[in-house]
Amino acid sequence: MSELCNAHTHLELSDLGRVCPQSPTSFPAWMSRLIMSLRGRKPDDYRAAVALGINALRACGISHVHDITNSWVSVEPLLHSGLQGCVYFEVMGQKRERALARMKEAMRRIVELRRSHADAPMRVGLSLHSPWSCHPDLLGEGAAWCRENKVPLCIHVAESPAETELLLTGRVRELGWMKTQIGRSLRMLPKSGPGLRPVPYLEALGVLDARPLLVHAVQVDDQEIETLARTRCAVVHCPRSNALLSCGRMRLEAFLNAGIPVYLGTDSRVSSPDLDVRAEAAEAKKLHAGKVDAGRIDAMLAPPHQESW
Ligand SMILES: [Zn+2]
Repeated sequence: MSELCNAHTHLELSDLGRVCPQSPTSFPAWMSRLIMSLRGRKPDDYRAAVALGINALRACGISHVHDITNSWVSVEPLLHSGLQGCVYFEVMGQKRERALARMKEAMRRIVELRRSHADAPMRVGLSLHSPWSCHPDLLGEGAAWCRENKVPLCIHVAESPAETELLLTGRVRELGWMKTQIGRSLRMLPKSGPGLRPVPYLEALGVLDARPLLVHAVQVDDQEIETLARTRCAVVHCPRSNALLSCGRMRLEAFLNAGIPVYLGTDSRVSSPDLDVRAEAAEAKKLHAGKVDAGRIDAMLAPPHQESW
């Protein structure tokens, strides 16, 4: 395949393979461990990790990547890497004013880069981390801006059972444990849930109108798959990360039958053994054996094109 795409990763975490679970663990336990491992991290640590990640992609023969950067340091190296795809400025947070201010700064930089790098093979987009870690105004305003300005948008959604539980009830069973582990970082969690499952929540906020690239989409029912087909969103499937974080099996066959474009991504080295998307395809073939033809899974290694999904 001449064009090989890793449709979801976080290159800035490429040096943190030691955090990747060796065997399945729970999503909240993993998230707590990740947050603790990021304490005291400096921009130079992120820069070194991005360089490591870009080299790993090249070593696998990957030509396209969709990368999320929370530190924003991945943007410049990716723009000059020769790789194609999209790098997304990530924002998150439940503290409304603070999160919106950070998003405004991301928007300013995106506009500037789209002007100065109009012909670059690497596009620039916005990522709203997830429905559970973003204030509703961040989700609504961010998506509306992306739709109006034709900026690519990427969101992690419906990944773990804990996410659905948190949005429905405002609580997660493991929260007490998480609080003792991560303390002040809980500002990323909502004080109360909207009482909706992840996909209906994004739809209610108008987020799906921006046709985001949705990562994971494991915890979805048939009606929600219909919603994603109707709103013409695309999805990234990361089966190895889903398995290690006990998220469950994404019902790939239901997405494909609904005509939803699905792509393959490894996610970061924090929840994936490597960045090789062909290893992800091999895992997907095993996981969906008897339900999805191998040829359809190979087709998911092609790069996403926002105009066509
Ligand atoms: Zn991710």
